[in-house]
Amino acid sequence: MAQPPIEFHREIDALVKGRKKWENWREPEDPIRYAFAKLLRERDKTRRVYDVDPFVEVYDLREDIIGIYTESLDGMGDSWIFLINGPERALVIDTSFGLGNLKGLIREIIGDKPYDVANTHSHFDHAYGNYQFDRVYCHEYEAPKLLKNMNEHVWDYLFDENGVPIWYDFKREDLCGFKEYEVVGVPDGYTFDLGGGHEVELVFLPGHSTGHCGFLDKKNRIFFPGDDCCVGAIGIGRQPGIPYEEYASVEALYKELVKICDRTDEFDSLFPSHGPVEIGPVMLFSAMEACKAVLDAPSCYDEKFETPHGTQYGRKIFESGYLRYSATSVYMNKVAEID
Ligand SMILES: [Zn+2]
Repeated sequence: MAQPPIEFHREIDALVKGRKKWENWREPEDPIRYAFAKLLRERDKTRRVYDVDPFVEVYDLREDIIGIYTESLDGMGDSWIFLINGPERALVIDTSFGLGNLKGLIREIIGDKPYDVANTHSHFDHAYGNYQFDRVYCHEYEAPKLLKNMNEHVWDYLFDENGVPIWYDFKREDLCGFKEYEVVGVPDGYTFDLGGGHEVELVFLPGHSTGHCGFLDKKNRIFFPGDDCCVGAIGIGRQPGIPYEEYASVEALYKELVKICDRTDEFDSLFPSHGPVEIGPVMLFSAMEACKAVLDAPSCYDEKFETPHGTQYGRKIFESGYLRYSATSVYMNKVAEID
């Protein structure tokens, strides 16, 4: 099936202050994500924008789960921030790129209630808003990467040599700004207690990144799988030489998907970090099957393309997009032979 050209994008009625520069966009329009965003952003009656942070749209996804929809600053997929507003404490999952005043927005929504901030993983579209907070939790294998990103240059790639933003129309002063913060790496199973019996468990789910994790909201029976179970694409991007690099592999993702698939009596839906939310847990099984197929036969790919980082392959995930991998990101401890 031919991909639509990258120039092809249909507008969606956005309430946010920034604007996408479609002419430089790096991803083609994804049919499922487009349809979801169109319905959400033009029809959902809970959509609102707060004066304190005009760069994000806010949605009520449950009585106590607020979805903060953020547009991409780098020409890739728009991402979600989730705010779980528990009885005594709140939990913020991810912080997006750092455009706007997320900290002020959280205060406006939850008032004086204390809260914690946690990341699914360290990538720009999920963790570059961390610098406005004092402390951020993550899985312990992701902590070295957050610490490596502890510098004021993380946003430089968004601008050209004249200081003009490349993919999104915004002003540099609207970024949250750099400030060091404390990174708290925690093990698989670490639980955030939001009071009144409302617990959220951090679930190790590597693959997309070494210490990538999901979050299981036990009260709402929702699993937040981060980027490791998004409709459209799951990318396995191993970076040689970084701590725990072997966990950014299809094999590591498969092992943890087996475990979480065995716990599907604990949740009813998935809320991934990009694209559609309210997905059935069957998507986890589909992702697991795609992982198994790649491990058994990495040469049986459905797509192949070249990137600046080398050859990428894609294996179709049932009713979704592709599981994308390279020869080095299939197995934890050996390079795959792909012909
Ligand atoms: Zn992402």
